[in-house]
Amino acid sequence: MRKLNPFNFNNFFKKEKYIPYGRQHVTRGDIKEVINILRSDFLTQGPAINSFEEAISKYLNCKYSISVNSGTSGLHIACKALGLRKGDLLWTSPTTFVASANCAKYCGAEVDFVDIDIDTGLISTIKLEEKLKLAEKSGRLPKIVIPVHLGGASCDMKKIFSLSKKYNFKIIEDASHALGGKFFNQLIGNCTYSQITVFSFHPVKMITTGEGGMITTNDPKLAKSLYQLRSHGITKDPNFFERESPGLWSYEQQLLGYNYRMTDIQAALGKSQLRRIDQIVKKRRKILQIYQDELSNQPILFLKEQENVKSSVHLVIVRLKDFKKSQHKKFFELLRSESIGVQLHYMPVHLQPFYRKLGFHEGQFPNSEMYAESALSLPVYPNLQNKDLYKVINKFKCSLKKLNND
Ligand SMILES: *Cc1c(COP(=O)(O)O)cnc(C)c1O
Repeated sequence: MRKLNPFNFNNFFKKEKYIPYGRQHVTRGDIKEVINILRSDFLTQGPAINSFEEAISKYLNCKYSISVNSGTSGLHIACKALGLRKGDLLWTSPTTFVASANCAKYCGAEVDFVDIDIDTGLISTIKLEEKLKLAEKSGRLPKIVIPVHLGGASCDMKKIFSLSKKYNFKIIEDASHALGGKFFNQLIGNCTYSQITVFSFHPVKMITTGEGGMITTNDPKLAKSLYQLRSHGITKDPNFFERESPGLWSYEQQLLGYNYRMTDIQAALGKSQLRRIDQIVKKRRKILQIYQDELSNQPILFLKEQENVKSSVHLVIVRLKDFKKSQHKKFFELLRSESIGVQLHYMPVHLQPFYRKLGFHEGQFPNSEMYAESALSLPVYPNLQNKDLYKVINKFKCSLKKLNND
């Protein structure tokens, strides 16, 4: 066992508090709800699951909510439920977390990307339309398109939805960042402009269940297969049996599913957190406003919020104006050395080694690549203390000055 030197307090006291780009906020009330479940009859497959799902459906005004053990599992079975398989094609944005693309590979399908609009970081609907026109000619249209609501700001879903009618593809919204965000005054996740929406409840996201996710849809057939896919492909409802029920012990496995279930412990935490979602969004938007006011004369750009979009502000993303790639890298080093947890959302997915091995390379999606050489996310979370927020702002200005003097 490694022994700590009892006389060396230096490291402990010198260490500055690290301010991450995002973190969970768990209240006493949340903890009480979790403890209640630990003392109850069901830790999994109990009533807390239904209760959380109903709360989400009611909040979003959608018909069905299906809880899962991660956003990634949600994307996977969303693709499955829409019939994605070998030989099919899925398109998404290169500026996203790898899970938005990996879900296609899980199904044996191919992935391709559509470049972003550099001012919003979101999938460019102009590029999407151009690519669809070409794909129609070559007979390689996508079966599914996954728009990603980066940082909680909705993509142009009206445009994407109308393209989906013309070119006959399905839409899964990756709303991992966007619980509480709005598009034309409606909450993201009500599936007005998509078949399916997927949320993540990882601790940095809008609300958390530790690990976890939620799938929403208004289509009863999709809902039925999603419920089945999350639990081994099994149904317990005799009304849906393919064969006559041999007895009360019976259930049927009708397709190949997974164990992607959320536990009741997680559902109780999620439901408790959901009660505060409006406050959470308000607080995050307030923090964004302070950054915008305090950094207004700096050589940076905040991501543009389009008209009729109200971001949940999962992330506060800025881009350095007129700086070199090497200076962007240096800026990260300066801020990290000051214990400010700035992060890049995201390094383009097509440039990850796994995707390079599939043939992707630099230069294919130039906006996403340029974006990654200038963007960074600043700390934002509901209980970010004012003192820490102003420390970030101060260090941000000092570090930018240092860059300029280099
Ligand atoms: C977090 C995230 C996911 C995956 O969610 P998990 O719950 O971590 O599996 C997918 N897409 C995006 C854009 C995300 O940020």
